[in-house]
Amino acid sequence: MGMVTTAAVFEQLGWLLPDLATAGVVLVLAANLGSFLNVVVHRLPLGESVVYGGSHCPKCGAAIRAYDNVPVLGWLWLRGRCRDCQAPIALRYPLVEAVCGGWVGGIAAVQLLSGGRNLPGPWYGGGRSGSDVLLLHTDWQLVAVTLMLSAILLTLLVWSLLEWDGHRVSGRWVFAMLLAVGVAALIAPALQPAGVLSQYPLWPQSPRWLRPLVVSALGLLAAVVLGRFGSSVVRQGLLLLGVACGWRAVMVVAGLLPIVAAIRRGLIPQPLAEPESDGTETEAASCGAGLLVWGHPAGVDMVVAAGLHQLAWRWIDQLLACVMP
Ligand SMILES: [Zn+2]
Repeated sequence: MGMVTTAAVFEQLGWLLPDLATAGVVLVLAANLGSFLNVVVHRLPLGESVVYGGSHCPKCGAAIRAYDNVPVLGWLWLRGRCRDCQAPIALRYPLVEAVCGGWVGGIAAVQLLSGGRNLPGPWYGGGRSGSDVLLLHTDWQLVAVTLMLSAILLTLLVWSLLEWDGHRVSGRWVFAMLLAVGVAALIAPALQPAGVLSQYPLWPQSPRWLRPLVVSALGLLAAVVLGRFGSSVVRQGLLLLGVACGWRAVMVVAGLLPIVAAIRRGLIPQPLAEPESDGTETEAASCGAGLLVWGHPAGVDMVVAAGLHQLAWRWIDQLLACVMP
């Protein structure tokens, strides 16, 4: 008769609790990473160390107390103002922390707890899901590929924030990332859950490094062709995605970009419109300082598009398999 007893509800909760706790830990870790990324994006263009020196108020220089330095919440209970001089703290800082925790951390949590069910290929999803794959019988391949894909999303976020502030991302940094991700996939092919074509495994007899090599090479090629239609960080981000995830990921993300950019234009008012009195604020407000064309897909749109692709990767690949090789 569908009677649900209280005991049954508590039993269900008991099963869910480890999963909820695991998801919570991932989200909090990612939000704290977002707090660190704020420091990176603020200090890197100034040539300051991102490791040494605690956070301080850019206006009065007072050190930010440890108990105020909590991601998102710290900004909320300070009501967006410095505790010492009452100078407003830009909404952007808690926003980046929330995006990092909620979006990058959320995707990582879904991927880990679903046992990699969103990923294509035969390497993950051995039927186990929930915190079981993490805590009891850790699936290290899944943990490694989640760390790798999260690192790529975080890199895209840092690059797009630098672009938003009017800075260029150095070619050397991009090249180092491409090299690191490419070499990692060659050494541990399971880090790259993409096939050359939609059929797995393509060459059962071939050396293990051949598939990642071809996937990365074709991914780079697709990124060079499709990246011509976006900002410089879109170009650089597509190269990174190509090496990490292959040519189909590049095609899907490049296809999503104009849609995401159109939605972003509808949601966020153009920053150039608001004049600021403070000299340091105008620099951040004058979006892109010539690097960004407001109407065109930008790095920030890539963070959204690449995340959407990662969340639905397996099903997107299955859909594409119906129309492409
Ligand atoms: Zn202050």
